[in-house]
Amino acid sequence: MVLSARGVTKTYRKGAVAVPVLRGADIEVREGEMLAIVGQSGSGKSTLLHVLGTLDRPDAGEVVYQGERIDALSRKRRDAFRNTELGMIFQSYHLLPELSALENVLAPALIRYDMFDYFAKRRQLRERAAALLERVGLGHRLTHKPRELSGGEMQRTAIARALMNEPSLLLADEPTGNLDPTSGEGVLELLRGLNQTDGLTVVMVTHDRSIAALADRTVTLVEGRVADEEAGLRVQG
Ligand code: ADP
Ligand code: MG
Repeated sequence: MVLSARGVTKTYRKGAVAVPVLRGADIEVREGEMLAIVGQSGSGKSTLLHVLGTLDRPDAGEVVYQGERIDALSRKRRDAFRNTELGMIFQSYHLLPELSALENVLAPALIRYDMFDYFAKRRQLRERAAALLERVGLGHRLTHKPRELSGGEMQRTAIARALMNEPSLLLADEPTGNLDPTSGEGVLELLRGLNQTDGLTVVMVTHDRSIAALADRTVTLVEGRVADEEAGLRVQG
């Protein structure tokens, strides 16, 4: 087991109104698997993924990565953890608009190394970034800015960026949510390939069961808890 969460609760407050989203969610991510998290819109999938990825802190419960509690780390240590151990991709890509595809892919290395280390390694790092863009089918788009790329190409660039610091785990939140079916299929094939060929552990959130069907295993978020597939079907009758 590479990552797990136990008894995670999260309630958002909007003025006087409390909105409980996670109510004791448990989840286990196994090394080398592709896991899908499904659930209706608003069921808390993104919230759970953000908690797993230390972008958000649970109100209660714990998140353990390779034997170490990560939910209670300082902001600085959580930032370093995300930078070196995790790759994350989102429905809306989150690329930096002023940077080329190559520079976007290099960004995690700029954050990781201090200026002198980066300078010393810059040739290898640029080669790695270019090779990653090649790997995702964008070897011919290195100098393009995000606005000059299609949606599918932007998501592929985001995937290359997520891989820059050699993460052991990729978290993907509705990675094909903004894509047409053909580009979406391409991105899913790429994720499946990274999982099967490169052994990357992938956790993918989706509201779409046909997308979840590509994963090795699916869990369902129902009323703020995680049900495994059988239990999820039982809940639905
Ligand atoms: P999903 O990804 O499954 O669609 P989310 O995790 O984004 O669900 O959201 C779950 C619920 O929490 C929704 O009702 C949403 O409106 C609410 N919510 C999410 N983020 C916030 C926030 N920052 N502040 C207040 N409410 C939020
Ligand atoms: Mg969401």
